[in-house]
Amino acid sequence: MNIILMGPPGAGKGTQAELIKVAYPIPHISTGDMFREAVLNGTAMGKEAKKYMDAGQLVPDEVTIGIVEDRLAQGDCEKGFLLDGFPRTTLQAQALDQVVAKRGKNVEVALNISVPEEILLLRMSGRVSCTTCKAVYNTKFSPPASTGVCDKCGGELVQRSDDKEETVKNRLKVYQDQTQPLLNYYEQQGNLTTLDGNRDSVEVFKDVKAILENLR
Ligand code: ADP
Ligand code: ADP
Ligand code: ZN
Repeated sequence: MNIILMGPPGAGKGTQAELIKVAYPIPHISTGDMFREAVLNGTAMGKEAKKYMDAGQLVPDEVTIGIVEDRLAQGDCEKGFLLDGFPRTTLQAQALDQVVAKRGKNVEVALNISVPEEILLLRMSGRVSCTTCKAVYNTKFSPPASTGVCDKCGGELVQRSDDKEETVKNRLKVYQDQTQPLLNYYEQQGNLTTLDGNRDSVEVFKDVKAILENLR
């Protein structure tokens, strides 16, 4: 299974990926998570990426494509992978096609999660995540039992710095300009499936599951 999760920031890609991971044992590769990890570790790549993330811009293609190619070359990706937040540009999509073509495969399905912009704004302004186990909550839609504390591990919940209102506006614009055109790319390949993401995440996942069952 070679699956990609597409959709604007805040659409619920990470949330669906967590549900998919439980039902299907394939590696979940989130470029956003990889960049945040590099920032935390203070690596040279992390320092470079942080400049773009803080501005709500995309990290340059050569950096992003490089880390994804390295990750996909690891043994656990042989049986398939779930990409979350990659590709976001046409160059990234072409690079991914080359990697899978070398293995005699193709991207099987691009799941596009569609959510109206006003809902995206609400979701991102309420998103908090655990500094310890990375679990994601929403102060409005799926709050933890105790404010600021992770239900799963007791860790501290914090807002992502790029979820501040100003940065969110830039990210939505970047999505429209650079990533939305990719929907056409996958439409032409015949593997785009668009889902209504403006429902409870469990309902969205039922559709995701039905689509993935059809692939097997
Ligand atoms: P969201 O899930 O809200 O869309 P992500 O966690 O996927 O956000 O990404 C956070 C940030 O990391 C992006 O705003 C961008 O700066 C960087 N990033 C993530 N994926 C990519 C990518 N494929 N290409 C370039 N930059 C990326
Ligand atoms: P993305 O990875 O696409 O940026 P996330 O999965 O991180 O999106 O979700 C963004 C925010 O919205 C999080 O706070 C998450 O808890 C919440 N969320 C995700 N899916 C739903 C949904 N179906 N309904 C309501 N809130 C949701
Ligand atoms: Zn936690």
